[in-house]
Amino acid sequence: MSIQVNAVTKTYGTQLALNNISFELNAGEVVGFLGPNGAGKSTMMKIITCYIPPTIGTVNVCGFDVMDNSIAVKRLVGYLPEHNPLYLDMYVKEYLEFTAGMYGINKALPKLVASLIDRVGLGVEQHKKIGQLSKGYRQRVGLAQAMIHDPKVLILDEPTTGLDPNQIVDIRNLIKEIGKEKTVMLSSHIMQEVEAICNRVIIINNGQIVANDNAQNLARNVTYRQVVVVEFDKSTSNEQLKKLEGVGVVENIKPNVYKLFSTSDDDLRVTLFNYAVANSLTILAQHLDEQSLEQVFQKLTRK
Ligand code: ADP
Ligand code: MG
Repeated sequence: MSIQVNAVTKTYGTQLALNNISFELNAGEVVGFLGPNGAGKSTMMKIITCYIPPTIGTVNVCGFDVMDNSIAVKRLVGYLPEHNPLYLDMYVKEYLEFTAGMYGINKALPKLVASLIDRVGLGVEQHKKIGQLSKGYRQRVGLAQAMIHDPKVLILDEPTTGLDPNQIVDIRNLIKEIGKEKTVMLSSHIMQEVEAICNRVIIINNGQIVANDNAQNLARNVTYRQVVVVEFDKSTSNEQLKKLEGVGVVENIKPNVYKLFSTSDDDLRVTLFNYAVANSLTILAQHLDEQSLEQVFQKLTRK
């Protein structure tokens, strides 16, 4: 187990930011921590990285408690905070050597920094001051900084926020690469992002976990597993369609075209084929639509 969060509650004064949260991350997983602004994502990440203590509950990283063994935890965890604070007047290499120094690394520093610069694709920009870099390259510096002590676990707080679309793709690919070797927890309010990068998604809202599953299951498990749009050669009755196994909602979206929402595991298209045969209808087209994670996210986090 890489990260174990047990019944964590966090309050800032009277403000409740996390409300009795529990979850686990296994070694090697890349998990998305998804939620709207103010959900409590950064708060959770600051607790895991020992920046702030939980009010109630415990957090373990690779078996070490964040309160009792914070030095051990910091050795194991790399952290890219939200907004990626960097020293803009420092040169890229200078900054990375400085960060290494904070972790007590002094052996073979130039070699270590060079390999990290290569790893995160900073090569062409490596001689610049951080202040001269674009946001995408600053993010690469942030990732290099987070990995300087070769941590087992990486905590990345909204790593692609504020980047342009090309930079987003680059950073996502980089995170996927890194995820092959390390346990990664990344937060985001963009569902496509976690869908693209993560094996598993934890959705939080108002300081509580509202879903914890892989992206496909999540999309399927929220009420309706299947949405099928079917076109017959003539019209049929909504009421009759609604009686089909698992069908909860039927919308007549165009003449002879129906949208059906089903909670059943059986392929609704087969059921519809049999229905058409029994009712002397011909199916001109039918299409199975799985719900996107975005729709799931909205359902779960809308008040
Ligand atoms: P997210 O990262 O999901 O946007 P945060 O963890 O930053 O959410 O915030 C969760 C809640 O806690 C929000 O309502 C926020 O206003 C509040 N909060 C965060 N940090 C502080 C703080 N230092 N003092 C008071 N309230 C805070
Ligand atoms: Mg945040």
